[in-house]
Amino acid sequence: MLEINDLHVSVGDRQILKGLNLKVAAGEVAAIMGPNGTGKSTLSYVIAGREGYSITQGEILLNGLNLLDLPPHLRASSGVFLAFQYPVEIPGVACMQFLKAAMNAQRRSRGEDEINTPEFIKRVREESEKLKIHQEMLRRPLNSGFSGGEKKRHEILQMELLKPKIAILDETDSGLDVDALRIVSEGVNRVKDSNNIGIMLITHYTRILRYIKPDFVHVFAAGKIVEAGGA
Ligand code: ADP
Ligand code: MG
Repeated sequence: MLEINDLHVSVGDRQILKGLNLKVAAGEVAAIMGPNGTGKSTLSYVIAGREGYSITQGEILLNGLNLLDLPPHLRASSGVFLAFQYPVEIPGVACMQFLKAAMNAQRRSRGEDEINTPEFIKRVREESEKLKIHQEMLRRPLNSGFSGGEKKRHEILQMELLKPKIAILDETDSGLDVDALRIVSEGVNRVKDSNNIGIMLITHYTRILRYIKPDFVHVFAAGKIVEAGGA
């Protein structure tokens, strides 16, 4: 389970997170809702280990492991996954290359052998078909020229392949039409149910919550959770 206690974070001399507490258990969906500019993406970056933030107080634990002690790649191999609000375009790195490197990095950290190419291609094909991602898209550079919906579906493909313990979905629903929203939600539910992972679902809209049922809804304002309750 992910457990965040009394987290205080600032950028420069500006304090953004101000004593945030949150628990997300395995197999549980926690929806995080709140106005723009209140620190939701900051929270997701701090969990993933993006540089540039100073954590002045508090702790972030994943199954008892103190994530703040670890560099980003070890947080990832410990089971943290972040689907970006704004996935970055990386010209020069093909999607398939990126996906394989990410999967192998995780396998290595678990002491497993690298995935062989035929098995890798088979898995990517299976998962991408469920997400209605065209094979042609996977031959292109990472996120380059992808539509908003394609970028978001590609984030979920990564989640399906990496099978994290905790997945943070930062406004994965924004900019999706109804069909893409359904496809993405089904993907999230598949991974959640088959691997018992915890989901932190950051969103502005209730429509995704019709497809991905939250166990708890947390209201985020001014750098902390101010209210929580059931769906
Ligand atoms: P949300 O995701 O809830 O919309 P963010 O976490 O993106 O909010 O941003 C929270 C606040 O922190 C915003 O006012 C934003 O401008 C500020 N902020 C975030 N990152 C930085 C940064 N690197 N430098 C300066 N201000 C930042
Ligand atoms: Mg945000």
